[in-house]
Amino acid sequence: MPTFAVRTLAIALWSAASLAAQEPFALVGATVHPGDGSPAIADAVVVVRDGTIAAVGPRASTKVPDGVRTVDLAGQHVTPGLIDTHVHYSQTGWADGRPDAVNVREQFPYEQAMADNRAHPERFHRAFLHAGVTAVFDVGGYPWTLGLQAATAKDPLAPHVLATGPLLATFDPKLSLPDARQFDFPQDEAAARAMVQAHKKAGSGAIKFWFVTQADDEVAKWTPVLLAIGDEAKRAGLPLVVHATTLATAKVAVAAGARLLVHSVEDVAVDEPFVAACKQAGTFYCPTLTVYAGYAQLYAGKLSDEVKAQLDAVHPTVKERALRTEQLPRRNPRILEAMAKHLELQGDVVAQNVKALLAAGVPIVLGTDAGNPLTLHGPSVFAEMEAMAKAGMTPAQVLKAATHDAARAMGRSDLGRVAVGSVADLVVLGDDPSDVKAFRSPKFVVRAGVMHERAALLPK
Ligand SMILES: [Zn+2]
Repeated sequence: MPTFAVRTLAIALWSAASLAAQEPFALVGATVHPGDGSPAIADAVVVVRDGTIAAVGPRASTKVPDGVRTVDLAGQHVTPGLIDTHVHYSQTGWADGRPDAVNVREQFPYEQAMADNRAHPERFHRAFLHAGVTAVFDVGGYPWTLGLQAATAKDPLAPHVLATGPLLATFDPKLSLPDARQFDFPQDEAAARAMVQAHKKAGSGAIKFWFVTQADDEVAKWTPVLLAIGDEAKRAGLPLVVHATTLATAKVAVAAGARLLVHSVEDVAVDEPFVAACKQAGTFYCPTLTVYAGYAQLYAGKLSDEVKAQLDAVHPTVKERALRTEQLPRRNPRILEAMAKHLELQGDVVAQNVKALLAAGVPIVLGTDAGNPLTLHGPSVFAEMEAMAKAGMTPAQVLKAATHDAARAMGRSDLGRVAVGSVADLVVLGDDPSDVKAFRSPKFVVRAGVMHERAALLPK
Protein backbone atom coordinates (compact mmCIF):
# COMPACT_ATOMS: atom_id res chain seq x y z
CA MET A 1 0.00 0.00 0.00
CA PRO A 2 2.68 2.56 0.93
CA THR A 3 4.71 1.49 -2.13
CA PHE A 4 1.70 1.95 -4.34
CA ALA A 5 1.06 5.42 -2.88
CA VAL A 6 4.64 6.49 -3.45
CA ARG A 7 4.61 5.25 -7.03
CA THR A 8 1.32 7.04 -7.77
CA LEU A 9 2.78 10.24 -6.38
CA ALA A 10 5.92 9.85 -8.47
CA ILE A 11 3.87 9.38 -11.63
CA ALA A 12 1.73 12.42 -10.81
CA LEU A 13 4.83 14.59 -10.35
CA TRP A 14 6.37 13.33 -13.56
CA SER A 15 3.23 14.17 -15.60
CA ALA A 16 3.05 17.68 -14.13
CA ALA A 17 6.69 18.28 -15.02
CA SER A 18 6.28 17.05 -18.58
CA LEU A 19 3.34 19.40 -19.06
CA ALA A 20 5.28 22.35 -17.70
CA ALA A 21 8.32 21.94 -19.90
CA GLN A 22 8.91 20.27 -23.24
CA GLU A 23 11.92 18.03 -23.88
CA PRO A 24 15.13 20.04 -24.34
CA PHE A 25 15.86 21.30 -27.84
CA ALA A 26 18.41 23.45 -29.66
CA LEU A 27 17.73 26.18 -32.21
CA VAL A 28 20.59 26.03 -34.70
CA GLY A 29 21.80 28.38 -37.43
CA ALA A 30 19.72 31.52 -36.83
CA THR A 31 21.02 35.01 -36.14
CA VAL A 32 20.29 35.74 -32.48
CA HIS A 33 19.42 39.30 -31.41
CA PRO A 34 19.90 39.19 -27.62
CA GLY A 35 17.61 42.18 -26.89
CA ASP A 36 19.88 43.85 -24.34
CA GLY A 37 21.75 45.95 -26.89
CA SER A 38 24.66 43.51 -27.24
CA PRO A 39 25.63 42.58 -30.83
CA ALA A 40 23.77 39.98 -32.86
CA ILE A 41 25.23 36.46 -32.96
CA ALA A 42 25.35 34.98 -36.48
CA ASP A 43 24.95 31.22 -37.07
CA ALA A 44 24.04 30.69 -33.42
CA VAL A 45 23.01 27.84 -31.16
CA VAL A 46 20.36 28.34 -28.46
CA VAL A 47 19.83 25.39 -26.12
CA VAL A 48 16.50 25.37 -24.28
CA ARG A 49 16.04 23.10 -21.29
CA ASP A 50 13.40 23.08 -18.52
CA GLY A 51 11.89 26.30 -19.78
CA THR A 52 15.11 28.30 -19.60
CA ILE A 53 17.99 29.11 -21.90
CA ALA A 54 20.78 26.69 -21.02
CA ALA A 55 23.32 27.90 -23.61
CA VAL A 56 23.62 30.53 -26.33
CA GLY A 57 26.54 31.40 -28.61
CA PRO A 58 28.09 30.94 -32.05
CA ARG A 59 27.80 27.43 -33.48
CA ALA A 60 31.59 27.10 -33.60
CA SER A 61 31.91 27.39 -29.83
CA THR A 62 28.50 26.24 -28.53
CA LYS A 63 27.96 22.51 -28.36
CA VAL A 64 24.55 20.94 -28.71
CA PRO A 65 24.42 18.33 -25.90
CA ASP A 66 24.13 14.70 -27.01
CA GLY A 67 20.59 13.53 -27.57
CA VAL A 68 19.09 17.00 -27.71
CA ARG A 69 16.72 17.53 -30.63
CA THR A 70 17.86 20.26 -33.04
CA VAL A 71 15.69 22.66 -35.03
CA ASP A 72 17.39 24.06 -38.13
CA LEU A 73 16.75 27.81 -38.39
CA ALA A 74 19.36 28.76 -40.97
CA GLY A 75 18.61 32.17 -42.47
CA GLN A 76 16.13 33.08 -39.71
CA HIS A 77 16.27 35.42 -36.72
CA VAL A 78 15.67 34.80 -33.02
CA THR A 79 14.76 37.58 -30.57
CA PRO A 80 13.33 37.56 -27.05
CA GLY A 81 9.53 37.44 -26.91
CA LEU A 82 7.93 40.88 -27.03
CA ILE A 83 6.66 42.55 -23.86
CA ASP A 84 3.68 44.92 -23.80
CA THR A 85 3.94 47.02 -20.63
CA HIS A 86 0.53 48.67 -21.01
CA VAL A 87 -2.49 46.40 -21.35
CA HIS A 88 -5.91 45.91 -19.75
CA TYR A 89 -7.56 42.48 -19.57
CA SER A 90 -10.62 44.27 -18.14
CA GLN A 91 -11.25 46.06 -21.42
CA THR A 92 -12.52 44.40 -24.58
CA GLY A 93 -10.85 46.18 -27.49
CA TRP A 94 -14.14 47.86 -28.35
CA ALA A 95 -16.78 50.34 -27.15
CA ASP A 96 -18.59 47.71 -25.06
CA GLY A 97 -15.68 47.89 -22.59
CA ARG A 98 -15.57 51.69 -22.63
CA PRO A 99 -19.15 52.98 -22.62
CA ASP A 100 -17.79 56.24 -21.18
CA ALA A 101 -16.38 56.93 -24.69
CA VAL A 102 -19.30 55.74 -26.81
CA ASN A 103 -22.35 54.53 -24.96
CA VAL A 104 -23.40 51.20 -26.43
CA ARG A 105 -24.74 49.84 -23.13
CA GLU A 106 -28.25 49.23 -24.43
CA GLN A 107 -27.22 46.89 -27.22
CA PHE A 108 -24.01 45.59 -25.60
CA PRO A 109 -24.42 45.61 -21.80
CA TYR A 110 -21.20 46.51 -20.01
CA GLU A 111 -21.91 43.88 -17.34
CA GLN A 112 -22.03 41.14 -19.99
CA ALA A 113 -18.82 42.35 -21.64
CA MET A 114 -17.03 42.28 -18.28
CA ALA A 115 -18.40 38.81 -17.44
CA ASP A 116 -17.12 37.52 -20.80
CA ASN A 117 -13.67 39.00 -20.20
CA ARG A 118 -13.45 37.38 -16.83
CA ALA A 119 -14.64 34.00 -18.11
CA HIS A 120 -12.32 33.93 -21.15
CA PRO A 121 -8.94 35.53 -20.61
CA GLU A 122 -7.51 32.83 -22.93
CA ARG A 123 -8.88 34.79 -25.91
CA PHE A 124 -6.38 37.54 -25.16
CA HIS A 125 -3.63 35.14 -23.98
CA ARG A 126 -3.66 33.46 -27.39
CA ALA A 127 -3.80 36.73 -29.35
CA PHE A 128 -0.77 38.00 -27.44
CA LEU A 129 1.26 34.84 -28.06
CA HIS A 130 0.21 34.73 -31.71
CA ALA A 131 1.66 38.27 -32.02
CA GLY A 132 4.90 37.14 -30.34
CA VAL A 133 4.05 38.84 -27.03
CA THR A 134 5.20 36.60 -24.18
CA ALA A 135 4.75 38.98 -21.21
CA VAL A 136 2.35 41.80 -20.39
CA PHE A 137 1.85 44.34 -17.64
CA ASP A 138 -1.86 44.77 -16.85
CA VAL A 139 -1.90 48.27 -15.40
CA GLY A 140 -5.47 48.56 -14.19
CA GLY A 141 -8.54 46.38 -13.98
CA TYR A 142 -10.95 44.34 -11.87
CA PRO A 143 -9.67 42.32 -8.90
CA TRP A 144 -9.91 39.03 -10.83
CA THR A 145 -7.00 40.14 -13.04
CA LEU A 146 -4.70 39.60 -10.03
CA GLY A 147 -5.34 35.87 -10.35
CA LEU A 148 -3.81 35.89 -13.84
CA GLN A 149 -0.36 36.42 -12.33
CA ALA A 150 0.02 32.97 -10.76
CA ALA A 151 -2.19 31.28 -13.37
CA THR A 152 0.02 32.32 -16.29
CA ALA A 153 3.46 32.07 -14.65
CA LYS A 154 4.38 28.75 -16.27
CA ASP A 155 1.61 28.41 -18.82
CA PRO A 156 3.05 27.78 -22.31
CA LEU A 157 -0.26 29.06 -23.75
CA ALA A 158 -0.35 32.45 -22.00
CA PRO A 159 2.01 35.39 -21.61
CA HIS A 160 3.39 36.19 -18.17
CA VAL A 161 0.96 38.64 -16.57
CA LEU A 162 1.93 41.17 -13.91
CA ALA A 163 -1.20 42.99 -12.71
CA THR A 164 -1.96 46.03 -10.58
CA GLY A 165 -5.64 45.21 -10.07
CA PRO A 166 -7.94 48.19 -9.36
CA LEU A 167 -6.63 51.69 -10.03
CA LEU A 168 -6.30 54.49 -7.52
CA ALA A 169 -7.82 57.41 -9.37
CA THR A 170 -8.61 61.12 -9.28
CA PHE A 171 -11.66 60.81 -11.50
CA ASP A 172 -14.60 58.43 -11.80
CA PRO A 173 -15.33 57.26 -15.37
CA LYS A 174 -18.23 55.17 -14.00
CA LEU A 175 -16.68 51.90 -15.07
CA SER A 176 -17.51 49.56 -12.24
CA LEU A 177 -19.84 46.68 -11.53
CA PRO A 178 -22.34 46.25 -8.71
CA ASP A 179 -20.15 43.57 -7.13
CA ALA A 180 -16.63 44.65 -8.15
CA ARG A 181 -14.72 47.88 -8.31
CA GLN A 182 -12.17 48.81 -10.92
CA PHE A 183 -11.30 52.14 -9.24
CA ASP A 184 -10.62 53.43 -5.74
CA PHE A 185 -10.75 57.15 -4.98
CA PRO A 186 -8.34 58.22 -2.25
CA GLN A 187 -9.59 61.50 -0.76
CA ASP A 188 -6.58 62.17 1.46
CA GLU A 189 -3.15 60.82 2.32
CA ALA A 190 -4.34 58.47 5.05
CA ALA A 191 -6.96 56.93 2.77
CA ALA A 192 -4.36 56.58 0.01
CA ARG A 193 -1.95 54.74 2.31
CA ALA A 194 -4.68 52.40 3.52
CA MET A 195 -5.63 51.61 -0.08
CA VAL A 196 -2.05 50.76 -1.01
CA GLN A 197 -1.90 48.35 1.93
CA ALA A 198 -5.24 46.80 0.96
CA HIS A 199 -4.05 46.31 -2.62
CA LYS A 200 -0.86 44.69 -1.40
CA LYS A 201 -2.91 42.32 0.73
CA ALA A 202 -5.13 41.47 -2.23
CA GLY A 203 -2.07 40.46 -4.27
CA SER A 204 -1.40 43.49 -6.48
CA GLY A 205 1.91 43.21 -8.33
CA ALA A 206 2.16 47.00 -8.53
CA ILE A 207 0.19 50.13 -7.63
CA LYS A 208 -1.45 52.16 -10.39
CA PHE A 209 -2.46 55.80 -10.08
CA TRP A 210 -4.74 57.29 -12.74
CA PHE A 211 -3.76 60.96 -12.61
CA VAL A 212 -6.42 62.72 -14.66
CA THR A 213 -6.83 66.46 -14.12
CA GLN A 214 -9.02 69.07 -15.78
CA ALA A 215 -7.27 72.18 -14.38
CA ASP A 216 -3.83 73.11 -13.12
CA ASP A 217 -4.94 73.71 -9.53
CA GLU A 218 -5.96 70.05 -9.34
CA VAL A 219 -2.30 69.07 -9.65
CA ALA A 220 -1.50 70.83 -6.37
CA LYS A 221 -4.54 69.22 -4.73
CA TRP A 222 -3.45 65.68 -5.67
CA THR A 223 0.29 66.08 -5.12
CA PRO A 224 0.35 65.10 -1.42
CA VAL A 225 -1.94 62.14 -2.14
CA LEU A 226 0.33 60.80 -4.91
CA LEU A 227 3.45 61.37 -2.81
CA ALA A 228 1.83 59.36 -0.02
CA ILE A 229 0.92 56.60 -2.47
CA GLY A 230 4.50 56.49 -3.73
CA ASP A 231 5.91 56.36 -0.22
CA GLU A 232 3.51 53.64 0.92
CA ALA A 233 4.07 51.60 -2.26
CA LYS A 234 7.81 51.78 -1.66
CA ARG A 235 7.35 50.52 1.90
CA ALA A 236 5.14 47.72 0.62
CA GLY A 237 7.80 46.80 -1.96
CA LEU A 238 5.47 47.48 -4.88
CA PRO A 239 6.42 49.48 -7.97
CA LEU A 240 4.34 52.55 -8.81
CA VAL A 241 2.79 52.96 -12.26
CA VAL A 242 1.23 56.30 -13.19
CA HIS A 243 -1.04 57.46 -15.99
CA ALA A 244 0.08 61.05 -16.57
CA THR A 245 -0.25 62.88 -19.88
CA THR A 246 0.85 66.40 -18.88
CA LEU A 247 4.27 67.58 -17.83
CA ALA A 248 2.90 68.87 -14.51
CA THR A 249 1.33 65.53 -13.55
CA ALA A 250 4.27 63.49 -14.86
CA LYS A 251 6.64 65.55 -12.70
CA VAL A 252 4.67 64.72 -9.55
CA ALA A 253 4.58 61.06 -10.60
CA VAL A 254 8.35 60.91 -10.90
CA ALA A 255 8.79 62.80 -7.62
CA ALA A 256 6.59 60.10 -6.05
CA GLY A 257 9.03 57.47 -7.34
CA ALA A 258 7.07 56.16 -10.34
CA ARG A 259 8.87 53.23 -11.92
CA LEU A 260 6.72 53.38 -15.03
CA LEU A 261 4.89 56.21 -16.79
CA VAL A 262 2.36 54.57 -19.09
CA HIS A 263 1.66 57.52 -21.38
CA SER A 264 3.58 60.27 -23.10
CA VAL A 265 3.85 63.83 -21.89
CA GLU A 266 1.53 65.24 -24.54
CA ASP A 267 0.98 68.89 -23.72
CA VAL A 268 4.44 70.50 -23.89
CA ALA A 269 8.08 69.65 -24.50
CA VAL A 270 9.74 67.92 -21.54
CA ASP A 271 12.27 70.13 -19.75
CA GLU A 272 15.67 69.49 -18.19
CA PRO A 273 14.45 69.08 -14.59
CA PHE A 274 11.94 66.43 -15.67
CA VAL A 275 14.52 64.49 -17.69
CA ALA A 276 16.99 64.64 -14.80
CA ALA A 277 14.32 63.51 -12.32
CA CYS A 278 13.41 60.53 -14.51
CA LYS A 279 17.03 59.48 -14.67
CA GLN A 280 17.50 59.83 -10.94
CA ALA A 281 14.33 57.93 -10.08
CA GLY A 282 15.08 55.18 -12.64
CA THR A 283 11.75 55.79 -14.34
CA PHE A 284 10.74 53.87 -17.47
CA TYR A 285 8.76 55.79 -20.07
CA CYS A 286 6.08 53.99 -22.10
CA PRO A 287 4.98 56.45 -24.81
CA THR A 288 1.75 54.60 -25.84
CA LEU A 289 1.65 56.26 -29.26
CA THR A 290 -1.20 54.58 -31.11
CA VAL A 291 -4.13 54.25 -28.67
CA TYR A 292 -5.85 57.47 -29.78
CA ALA A 293 -5.99 56.21 -33.35
CA GLY A 294 -8.41 53.53 -32.08
CA TYR A 295 -10.71 56.11 -30.49
CA ALA A 296 -10.58 58.20 -33.67
CA GLN A 297 -11.88 55.20 -35.64
CA LEU A 298 -14.64 54.65 -33.11
CA TYR A 299 -15.80 58.28 -33.35
CA ALA A 300 -15.59 58.26 -37.14
CA GLY A 301 -17.47 54.93 -37.37
CA LYS A 302 -14.77 53.61 -39.69
CA LEU A 303 -12.04 51.00 -39.27
CA SER A 304 -8.51 51.70 -40.46
CA ASP A 305 -6.81 49.32 -42.87
CA GLU A 306 -4.38 48.55 -40.04
CA VAL A 307 -7.11 47.31 -37.70
CA LYS A 308 -8.96 45.48 -40.49
CA ALA A 309 -5.75 43.58 -41.20
CA GLN A 310 -5.52 42.56 -37.52
CA LEU A 311 -8.99 41.02 -37.33
CA ASP A 312 -8.02 37.53 -38.44
CA ALA A 313 -5.40 37.38 -35.68
CA VAL A 314 -7.82 37.94 -32.80
CA HIS A 315 -10.64 35.88 -31.32
CA PRO A 316 -13.77 35.73 -33.52
CA THR A 317 -15.84 37.49 -30.83
CA VAL A 318 -13.36 40.40 -30.78
CA LYS A 319 -13.48 40.60 -34.57
CA GLU A 320 -17.27 40.56 -34.59
CA ARG A 321 -17.45 43.54 -32.21
CA ALA A 322 -14.76 45.51 -34.06
CA LEU A 323 -16.68 45.12 -37.33
CA ARG A 324 -19.70 46.78 -35.69
CA THR A 325 -17.70 50.02 -35.55
CA GLU A 326 -19.04 50.88 -38.99
CA GLN A 327 -22.61 50.83 -37.60
CA LEU A 328 -21.91 53.36 -34.85
CA PRO A 329 -23.24 56.91 -35.16
CA ARG A 330 -20.54 59.10 -36.68
CA ARG A 331 -19.55 62.34 -35.08
CA ASN A 332 -19.81 65.66 -36.89
CA PRO A 333 -17.08 65.79 -39.61
CA ARG A 334 -15.86 69.14 -38.35
CA ILE A 335 -15.31 67.73 -34.88
CA LEU A 336 -13.49 64.75 -36.42
CA GLU A 337 -11.31 67.06 -38.44
CA ALA A 338 -10.45 69.15 -35.37
CA MET A 339 -9.63 65.96 -33.45
CA ALA A 340 -7.34 64.76 -36.24
CA LYS A 341 -5.55 68.12 -36.33
CA HIS A 342 -5.12 68.07 -32.57
CA LEU A 343 -3.71 64.53 -32.69
CA GLU A 344 -1.29 65.51 -35.42
CA LEU A 345 0.08 68.48 -33.44
CA GLN A 346 0.20 66.40 -30.28
CA GLY A 347 2.04 63.70 -32.23
CA ASP A 348 4.86 66.11 -32.97
CA VAL A 349 5.28 67.03 -29.29
CA VAL A 350 5.08 63.37 -28.28
CA ALA A 351 7.76 62.31 -30.80
CA GLN A 352 10.06 65.12 -29.69
CA ASN A 353 9.66 64.04 -26.08
CA VAL A 354 10.50 60.42 -26.89
CA LYS A 355 13.66 61.58 -28.66
CA ALA A 356 14.68 63.93 -25.82
CA LEU A 357 14.25 61.22 -23.16
CA LEU A 358 15.98 58.60 -25.28
CA ALA A 359 18.95 60.90 -25.92
CA ALA A 360 19.26 61.49 -22.18
CA GLY A 361 19.30 57.74 -21.48
CA VAL A 362 15.81 57.35 -19.98
CA PRO A 363 14.64 53.84 -20.96
CA ILE A 364 11.70 53.86 -23.36
CA VAL A 365 9.47 50.75 -23.29
CA LEU A 366 6.83 49.20 -25.53
CA GLY A 367 3.20 49.57 -24.49
CA THR A 368 -0.07 49.79 -26.43
CA ASP A 369 -2.94 50.32 -23.93
CA ALA A 370 -4.45 47.18 -25.44
CA GLY A 371 -8.09 46.68 -24.54
CA ASN A 372 -9.05 50.24 -25.36
CA PRO A 373 -11.39 50.51 -28.35
CA LEU A 374 -9.68 49.15 -31.49
CA THR A 375 -6.33 48.78 -29.76
CA LEU A 376 -6.50 45.00 -29.88
CA HIS A 377 -4.74 42.71 -27.43
CA GLY A 378 -1.82 41.24 -29.36
CA PRO A 379 -1.48 42.57 -32.91
CA SER A 380 -1.59 46.23 -31.80
CA VAL A 381 2.10 45.89 -30.83
CA PHE A 382 3.11 45.94 -34.50
CA ALA A 383 1.72 49.41 -35.25
CA GLU A 384 3.05 50.64 -31.91
CA MET A 385 6.59 49.44 -32.66
CA GLU A 386 6.44 51.02 -36.10
CA ALA A 387 5.20 54.27 -34.54
CA MET A 388 8.17 54.17 -32.15
CA ALA A 389 10.49 53.86 -35.15
CA LYS A 390 8.67 56.71 -36.88
CA ALA A 391 9.09 58.85 -33.75
CA GLY A 392 12.85 58.57 -34.18
CA MET A 393 13.95 55.32 -32.53
CA THR A 394 16.29 53.01 -34.43
CA PRO A 395 15.12 49.40 -34.96
CA ALA A 396 17.74 48.28 -32.42
CA GLN A 397 16.34 50.76 -29.88
CA VAL A 398 12.80 49.54 -30.56
CA LEU A 399 13.89 45.93 -30.02
CA LYS A 400 15.49 46.80 -26.69
CA ALA A 401 12.42 48.83 -25.67
CA ALA A 402 10.18 45.88 -26.54
CA THR A 403 12.22 43.23 -24.72
CA HIS A 404 15.07 43.89 -22.28
CA ASP A 405 13.94 47.29 -21.02
CA ALA A 406 10.26 46.33 -20.91
CA ALA A 407 11.19 43.34 -18.73
CA ARG A 408 13.00 45.64 -16.31
CA ALA A 409 10.01 47.97 -16.21
CA MET A 410 8.12 44.90 -14.93
CA GLY A 411 10.88 44.12 -12.44
CA ARG A 412 11.78 40.90 -14.29
CA SER A 413 15.51 40.47 -14.86
CA ASP A 414 14.85 36.88 -16.01
CA LEU A 415 12.80 37.95 -19.05
CA GLY A 416 13.43 39.94 -22.21
CA ARG A 417 16.85 38.61 -23.12
CA VAL A 418 18.37 35.73 -25.06
CA ALA A 419 20.95 34.87 -22.44
CA VAL A 420 21.89 31.89 -20.29
CA GLY A 421 19.51 31.60 -17.35
CA SER A 422 16.74 33.69 -18.89
CA VAL A 423 13.25 32.22 -19.28
CA ALA A 424 13.02 30.70 -22.76
CA ASP A 425 10.43 33.07 -24.23
CA LEU A 426 11.50 33.65 -27.83
CA VAL A 427 10.30 34.71 -31.23
CA VAL A 428 11.58 33.27 -34.51
CA LEU A 429 11.35 35.69 -37.45
CA GLY A 430 11.82 35.01 -41.14
CA ASP A 431 13.17 38.52 -41.74
CA ASP A 432 15.85 40.65 -40.13
CA PRO A 433 14.47 42.86 -37.32
CA SER A 434 16.65 45.69 -38.64
CA ASP A 435 13.25 46.56 -40.11
CA VAL A 436 10.68 46.48 -37.27
CA LYS A 437 8.05 45.26 -39.77
CA ALA A 438 9.77 41.86 -39.46
CA PHE A 439 7.84 41.38 -36.18
CA ARG A 440 4.54 41.29 -38.04
CA SER A 441 5.05 37.69 -39.14
CA PRO A 442 6.79 35.52 -36.56
CA LYS A 443 7.18 31.89 -37.64
CA PHE A 444 7.48 30.33 -34.19
CA VAL A 445 6.89 31.54 -30.66
CA VAL A 446 8.64 29.84 -27.75
CA ARG A 447 6.93 30.32 -24.38
CA ALA A 448 8.17 28.71 -21.18
CA GLY A 449 10.41 26.48 -23.26
CA VAL A 450 7.62 25.17 -25.47
CA MET A 451 7.94 25.85 -29.18
CA HIS A 452 4.70 26.74 -30.99
CA GLU A 453 4.14 27.16 -34.68
CA ARG A 454 2.50 30.52 -34.99
CA ALA A 455 -0.63 29.21 -36.70
CA ALA A 456 -1.29 26.87 -33.76
CA LEU A 457 -1.67 29.90 -31.48
CA LEU A 458 -4.50 31.53 -33.42
CA PRO A 459 -7.27 32.47 -30.91
CA LYS A 460 -10.28 30.22 -31.37
ZN1 LIG B 1 -4.09 52.25 -19.96
